[in-house]
Amino acid sequence: MFTYERSKISYERAKQHLAGGVASSLRASMKPFPLYADSAKGARLQDIDNHTYIDYLLAYGPLILGHAHDGLTESILSSMRKGYTYGLQHEGEIELADLLVEVLPCADKVAFSGSGTEAVMLALRLARAHTGKSKIVRFHGHYHGWSDAIFTSFPGAGLGASVGDGEGATVSPGTSGQSANSLDDVILLPWNDPEVLASTLRSRSGEIAAVISEPVMCNSGCLQPKPGYLELIRQLTNELGIVFILDEVITGFRLGLGGAHGRFGIKPDLVTIGKAMGGGIAISAVAGSNALMKLIDTSAVNHLGTLNGNGVATAAALTTIRELAQQNGAAFKRMEELFVTLSAGIRGLLSKHGIPGVVNQCGPVLHMMFIDEPEVADFDTFNKRDAGKYARFAELMLSEGVLLRPNGLWYISTAHSLTDIDETLLAVDRALSQLE
Ligand code: PMP
Repeated sequence: MFTYERSKISYERAKQHLAGGVASSLRASMKPFPLYADSAKGARLQDIDNHTYIDYLLAYGPLILGHAHDGLTESILSSMRKGYTYGLQHEGEIELADLLVEVLPCADKVAFSGSGTEAVMLALRLARAHTGKSKIVRFHGHYHGWSDAIFTSFPGAGLGASVGDGEGATVSPGTSGQSANSLDDVILLPWNDPEVLASTLRSRSGEIAAVISEPVMCNSGCLQPKPGYLELIRQLTNELGIVFILDEVITGFRLGLGGAHGRFGIKPDLVTIGKAMGGGIAISAVAGSNALMKLIDTSAVNHLGTLNGNGVATAAALTTIRELAQQNGAAFKRMEELFVTLSAGIRGLLSKHGIPGVVNQCGPVLHMMFIDEPEVADFDTFNKRDAGKYARFAELMLSEGVLLRPNGLWYISTAHSLTDIDETLLAVDRALSQLE
């Protein structure tokens, strides 16, 4: 059994002056308590108690090249030596904008910011400015960052404070301190329900500026869009003068070089990207059609941020994307194959141990859950999973040398190998045998 003595002491110390003891509220959910990293390289992370883990948390998604990737580290360091950020323009911004327009099918132009939350804020603003309307349709179980205008609950945390269903659902703020009317412009719908979508968009098209959706419901069960569903969003939004925003903060540079929209052949008006784009350095972007992005050209829409497009972040994104683009994006295929192997292995172990569970996998993302259902394809079924049991499993896996997010979502990087997958499956086998 691992002990986490130093982490425990550090966490107690942190709570004295660091609000919440962690830097992002979600991290407090880790069991037995939030652990402290010492260093990390490739697919492995070492904590301050000298335990080494195969890492599938991957900093909640950004580390697509793994930890401390040599080429990425070198490009960050050489960019830092030339100055971190200028406030002036620099050619790295142009190179990155050009590269994003080259690889993202929906992009005529891009705008940079620092986090997924900010990218979503900008996308919503562009949609409202373009349409002159204010309502935003979003979906149960999706997460689009923590800004007041859209936050309803933690990623994957179920319905949070939202109540109602279908047309006219009322949405309450997800956290204390959010203004009581901050979500008045949000219409919350069940995802993957073509009828509810069509009737709501048709009956309220005069008010609705945008539909925002994750392409795959990564934050809640890695649920896939039903065949034709994203296409229906595209068709209805086109027809009704509504902006279609695809939130690719997770899926961008993870489901493929062209993100989920490239993979599925959908052309949204705007996409938001973050996480994997910078390989672990803070950067995000909105990419989209000229019709919308020109609102920034004309200054109709203001887009600000002191550190937007800074030299270090743009260098990191350029190197990350170029690495991923090598050999026609072979890295994505390899990561996907490893996760197919891992998912199949976990399913086999669940049945070996007679423990009901489901593994949903989509490319280099998977979601494992304990649930007595043959499949989990919708959010209501996902909500029946035994989240407590999974948190115990994640804790057992730590002691087996595997770092997991306590909610079931696993990420993989280009640094993971088949050996890591084999070792992980041995760990899963041992952890399942200890799970009552
Ligand atoms: N959108 C999606 C789909 C996300 O998963 C996240 C983060 N988990 C965000 C937006 C917000 O990104 P950030 O945490 O970088 O603000």
